[in-house]
Amino acid sequence: MTLDAKIPEGPVEQKWSRYQATCKLVNAANRKKLDVIIVGTGLAGGGAAAALGELGYNVKAFCFHDSPRRAHSTAAQGGVNAAKNYQNDGDNIYRMFYDTVKGGDFRSREANVYRMAELSVSLIDTCVAQGVPFAREYGGVLGNRSFGGVQVERTFYAQGQTGQQLLLGTYSALSRQIKAGRVTMYNRHEMLDLVIVDGQAKGIIARDLITGEIQRYAAHAVVLATGGYSKIFYLSTLALGSNATAIWKAHKRGAYIANPSLTQIHPTCLPQSGERQSKLTLMSESLRNDGRIWVPLKAGDERSPNAIPDDERDYYLERRYPAFGNLTPRDIASRAAKERIDAGHGVGPLKNAVYLDFRDALKEYGRDGIAGRYGNLFDMYRKITGLDAYSEPMRIAPAAHFSMGGLWVDYELMTSVNGLYALGECNFADHGANRLGANSLLQACVDGYFIIPTTIGNYLADQRTKNLPSTDAPEFQQAADAAEAAIRKLLNVNGGRPVDEYHRALGAILWDRCGISRSPEGLQEAIIQITELREDFHRNVRVTGGSHEPNNELEKALRINDYLELAELMCRDALSRDESCGAHFRTDHQTEDGEAVRNDDDFAYVAAWEYTPNGTPTLHKEHLTFQDVKLTARSYK
Ligand SMILES: Cc1cc2nc3c(=O)[nH]c(=O)nc-3n(C[C@H](O)[C@H](O)[C@H](O)COP(=O)(O)OP(=O)(O)OC[C@H]3O[C@@H](n4cnc5c(N)ncnc54)[C@H](O)[C@@H]3O)c2cc1C
Repeated sequence: MTLDAKIPEGPVEQKWSRYQATCKLVNAANRKKLDVIIVGTGLAGGGAAAALGELGYNVKAFCFHDSPRRAHSTAAQGGVNAAKNYQNDGDNIYRMFYDTVKGGDFRSREANVYRMAELSVSLIDTCVAQGVPFAREYGGVLGNRSFGGVQVERTFYAQGQTGQQLLLGTYSALSRQIKAGRVTMYNRHEMLDLVIVDGQAKGIIARDLITGEIQRYAAHAVVLATGGYSKIFYLSTLALGSNATAIWKAHKRGAYIANPSLTQIHPTCLPQSGERQSKLTLMSESLRNDGRIWVPLKAGDERSPNAIPDDERDYYLERRYPAFGNLTPRDIASRAAKERIDAGHGVGPLKNAVYLDFRDALKEYGRDGIAGRYGNLFDMYRKITGLDAYSEPMRIAPAAHFSMGGLWVDYELMTSVNGLYALGECNFADHGANRLGANSLLQACVDGYFIIPTTIGNYLADQRTKNLPSTDAPEFQQAADAAEAAIRKLLNVNGGRPVDEYHRALGAILWDRCGISRSPEGLQEAIIQITELREDFHRNVRVTGGSHEPNNELEKALRINDYLELAELMCRDALSRDESCGAHFRTDHQTEDGEAVRNDDDFAYVAAWEYTPNGTPTLHKEHLTFQDVKLTARSYK
């Protein structure tokens, strides 16, 4: 199959308006005859369900949480980007588009990125209308701050709770539609498979997580908004329940997965403090606006940070990247931290951290000024570490955080399966090889509120005369049987190793070999280790409890089963991309001073992988053209 990204003709700034003016519409009387399944009710899926419900479609929305309000989106702290130029500091849509394409190291699609920047402007108005309490200046204007990779202030925020506040806005819009009867909400339901009838996505198989019942649901189209999969690293900043099952099952039914190895490692997380941890905590990137990052100049320096004088500190980001300093993008900052830690300059009990120091900012703005901006983050830091960041520097370290890879989608956000869409973090779009901070909430929101309500109509217009398939159809029967069989198989292994043990082992392999830096030899070894681990899992895993009761161990085992397959694809993808770009740093492609070396002649493409049962996956390439942003070496110096 040739990949058709369906990018509209015309100049980049007119593509979306041209598309909107020419795509098919479904009239209001017909919308109520059409059913749409939406899996995931974070910002992307919740926004989509509210918007499609408002348009009059019949929406069935699913999430595995007890409430949409628990979606991982709620964890986002720092902010959401929009090119409003309230600070009058030179921002505009083009600049945001430029920053994002460059920040993604020229591995994203220009048309999609431009649209995201364009829609950012309306998004803020929508959120304000919903009552999202963004920070304001004294005069009432919305406040802004900077995030990594940009030189303007375009990030809107609600203290350190931006995701939560946005999600509350989405949840109220969604609740309105649930009450109106246009959205039926299925909480605590997990999608286990996708059903395809006559080459089109027509339904899902879900498990009721309370009763264990395997259920079938049909619709005219299916939308996945199931979030990111970086929890595959076990230790990550993601919510514990985040997983890849929905996209992996869709992949096995024909949806291509694009750039699966492109994972963002976030530089400002709390360092791992012991062996039995299951999660790492993010300290927001916004802290880098005022905090300065350093390590002791002398390797192995055991002195307390406040006892180390300025001339014995290495402010390595300011030294290496004077133009952006502490606000270099995340891939650069994470790699620079790893380089210093590996060279023996790491701090903290495990020597696995660097300092994020507010001493100078406290002198300039005073304690109240800093508390006003970051007070809740400082409180959180104290609660977790017992340390006071007002009197000594925070200790931070890089951690797996965001998947730039995901289901391949075209400009309409349709996957390679007809009638199957992917929104938000579960698709690969917009961020290229590295996501700029605060662009993800934006992407999730605009995908859900603004893009899918238009693009899905173009498909549904042809579906209005088609009846819903019966859930007794053989395709539903086969998928339901397969889900039952997978559960039985896991319960029957009855081995001796707990599920979490496999997840931890898989995470360690990926972190070492497909994490901050990768080498061809390491990736080849990882593929062998993952295969062995997968075989061991099917021989020795122990899943306690039964299938017809709430069973957290079974849920985890089903998800790890999918991770063990996806992990291999990630390594294959990283191996085949024989260049360094963005978060994908190959040790065999670097300059003498450790900067990434991209290869645009051979790799300016999106790698879209097709699943082949019993064989190696097939690589399809979507070549990227850059007409509006010139391909240049990415420099933040
Ligand atoms: C700690 C942290 C802080 C962050 N801070 C920021 C920030 O400041 N700014 C920014 O732009 N981005 C930030 N991000 C990234 C951003 O939060 C996410 O990319 C974004 O919220 C993803 O939204 P989503 O709607 O795509 O997915 P999610 O919010 O993850 O929602 C996924 C939904 O899918 C459901 N689901 C998943 N699988 C299934 C299944 N099989 N069956 C049924 N339901 C399923 C879940 O129940 C949930 O409802 C942060 C991320 C982390 C980890």
